[in-house]
Amino acid sequence: MLGRQAGPVLSPMTDLPAISGPLPWQAELWAHLVQRVARDQLPHALLLGGVRHTGKSQLALALARLLLCHEPDDGHNCGRCHACNLSRAGSHGDFRYLEPAPKSRVIKIEQIRQVVEFANMTASLGRRKVVVLAPADAMNANAANAFLKVLEEPSADTHMILVCDRLQGLPATVRSRCQLLIMPLPSREHSLTWLDPITGSRQHSEALMTLADNRPLLAEQFYKEASIEDAKTRRGVLEALSRGQISGQQLAAALVNLSFDDALGEITGQLQRNIRAMDRGQLSSRRSRSLFELLDRVGNLQRAVENGANPNRQLIMDTVAAQFHLQLGNA
Ligand SMILES: [Zn+2]
Repeated sequence: MLGRQAGPVLSPMTDLPAISGPLPWQAELWAHLVQRVARDQLPHALLLGGVRHTGKSQLALALARLLLCHEPDDGHNCGRCHACNLSRAGSHGDFRYLEPAPKSRVIKIEQIRQVVEFANMTASLGRRKVVVLAPADAMNANAANAFLKVLEEPSADTHMILVCDRLQGLPATVRSRCQLLIMPLPSREHSLTWLDPITGSRQHSEALMTLADNRPLLAEQFYKEASIEDAKTRRGVLEALSRGQISGQQLAAALVNLSFDDALGEITGQLQRNIRAMDRGQLSSRRSRSLFELLDRVGNLQRAVENGANPNRQLIMDTVAAQFHLQLGNA
C-alpha cells in the first residue's frame, strides 16, 4: 500500500547479494573506506550518520563483508571464499549484528555484554571480527555505558560499525569515540536512475519518490509493499478462479500488471497448487481430471504465446475463465 507507514529497512547479512557493494550514491564514501581497509587504517569504531532510508545499514553490512572476506577483489568481498559463504549463510562466527530484540525498541545491556565478551575472544576464522549496531541510538543508558568500555579499550582485531539516524540520541561520550561518517542524501535524479529498473517506469518512480520524501530506499520499500499487496490480491482471485467463480474481466483485471506470458504462468501456478493439495485418493476424481485438462490447455496457450502468437488477451482470459467455470464451477 503506497501510503503505509514504513517499517525498519535493516537487512540482515543473508539478504544481501553474494558480492556486496555500496549503493550508487555511496560510491565516493565507499572508495574512501576501501582504501582505509586496504591500508589497514580503518578506525575501530565507525559511526554512520545521516538521513534514514538512504542505505546506511546496507553500507555497514557490505563493509562488514569486505572486512571478513579472505580474498577481497577490487574493493569488494569475493563472494566465494569460506568467510563469504559463512557470512552469506548468516553463520560467520566473527560477525555480530546487534538490533533491538523483537517487540522491543531498545538494545539492552545484556546484548552489549555479549559484545564485550565477543570483543575479547580471538577471531576464529580470519584476523578480524566485526560488530554492526543498528540503530545505535536504540541503546539504553546502561547499554551505552557498557558499550563505552569497549570503545575505550578497543580490541585490536574488532571493528564496530554503528548505524544511527538520530545522532542526538547517542551519548556524546560514545559519539566522540567513533569516527563519524555522514551518509549523503542522494540527489533526486540519482535516486530515480537507481529506482527506474526496479519499478520499470519513470512515472512510477517519480510518484514513489515524492511519497517517500526523496528517500530512495523508502520509495523502494513502498514499491515492494505495493507489489506484495498486488500479489495477495492476485492470489485471492486465482483461488476463486479455481472454484470457477471468476469472470474473464475479473481475471484480466487481476493480472493486468503482468506480461501475457507471466499472467498465464500465474494461472498454471494456481492449477499446480490445486493439484498438489489433493491427496492420493482424489487423483482419479473428476476434479483431478479437470485440473489436469486445464493445465494442458493453459500450457498450450503459453507455448503459443512464447512462440510469438499474439492472441487477443481479453478473449483468452474470457475463454480461460469460462473453461474453469465449466470444469470446476460445481466443486
Ligand atoms: Zn570472500
